[in-house]
Amino acid sequence: MEQALDRRIAEEIAARRDDLIRLARDLIRIPTLNPPGRNYREICDFLAARLGASGFSVELIRAEGAPGDGPDHPRWNLVARATGAGAGDCVHFNSHHDVVEVGHGWTRDPFGAEIAGDRIYGRGACDMKGGLAASIIAAEAFIAACPGYRGAIEISATADEETGGYGGVAYLAEQGRFSPDRVQHVIIPEPLNKDRICLGHRGVWWAEIETKGRIAHGSMPFLGDSAVRHMGAVLAEMEATLFPLLATKRTEMPVVPEGAKQSTLNINSIHGGEKEQAEGYTGLPAPCVPDRCRIVIDRRYLIEEDLAEVKREVAAMLERVKAARPSFLYEIRDLFEVRPTMTDRDAPVVRSTAAAIERVLGRSADYVVSPGTYDQKHIDRIGRLGNCIAYGPGILDLAHQPDEWVGIGDMMDSAKVMALVLADLLGP
Ligand SMILES: [Zn+2]
Repeated sequence: MEQALDRRIAEEIAARRDDLIRLARDLIRIPTLNPPGRNYREICDFLAARLGASGFSVELIRAEGAPGDGPDHPRWNLVARATGAGAGDCVHFNSHHDVVEVGHGWTRDPFGAEIAGDRIYGRGACDMKGGLAASIIAAEAFIAACPGYRGAIEISATADEETGGYGGVAYLAEQGRFSPDRVQHVIIPEPLNKDRICLGHRGVWWAEIETKGRIAHGSMPFLGDSAVRHMGAVLAEMEATLFPLLATKRTEMPVVPEGAKQSTLNINSIHGGEKEQAEGYTGLPAPCVPDRCRIVIDRRYLIEEDLAEVKREVAAMLERVKAARPSFLYEIRDLFEVRPTMTDRDAPVVRSTAAAIERVLGRSADYVVSPGTYDQKHIDRIGRLGNCIAYGPGILDLAHQPDEWVGIGDMMDSAKVMALVLADLLGP
């Protein structure tokens, strides 16, 4: 029985190869650049037509009042739902429809969806229109192979993942659309490779540190107090004590790549003294002692760490600098935080996906954790739904790069895996 359904699913997927390629290319050709959030309505309309024709009921939901939402760039999301013959669970596939800026270094048209060999090129090809297309084909193929399925299948295409997801998954989660009584299993087809199950991500804390000084004429710096020199002392202390401390903190989370298996800290930016003038300005800078210097730090923390402790380490480092520099004054402001999350390996969607990977690829699945966050954070925290993974085609390292591509074979394989997950969770 199960084997017969497996075979029917394999046939239905194989018959949709051209459809999958066409769908992925059509999605890549809609340039949903974020920021600022272009063509969100266009891509939602396109998907609504597609999924409506396949028997899904579709809703377009605008995240009114979300960051970035406005008349020029409304934050549109699409949620489509197909309901089976009897009561059962709901499996939800969530993809973000936005893509990051093009950047430099392309040798292909970023929105041309050119095909070369097994690859489709374009911004968003792997992150994550290839995954979105694969999940749609998986759902359509499964419904064709198993029309008497139980429960429901949802497919969402959501805004703004690349800028925090507040106009997308966070908004939908706040409306209760990921609450456990409505959705029981979530797969996010981010490009983690077709043989890997991503269980979650590390935590995030962003903060701005400002050092304060006193402005004076640059020819008499002894009359002022340089905020940039104070910040220099902060950076030196960071190098001497904080970075070595972070390197000692290792996690049991299966984070990839290897370098992210420890706590990390990035200094995103540094600004001090006179503001930089616009490009093309030909005047000279003024001679002033800088009275303000700011850095933004991006601390990624582990599931074994506590956020309060993470913050205390940085505060303690600043206090050490203060003890050594009589006039040192600083402020620190929280900007953003996300707690780490990791779905249990025994969760139903994990077990089901691992079994499907083994059947399709003939090898066991790898379990990974992402170094950076993605929309799972909102499903976990706002939606309170723990049964969530990222699984999809494409190579993570290609995301946000020039000449981004997704493999057609990889999309086909992962569509088959997703369809088998549906068969396992909703089938007879
Ligand atoms: Zn993505």
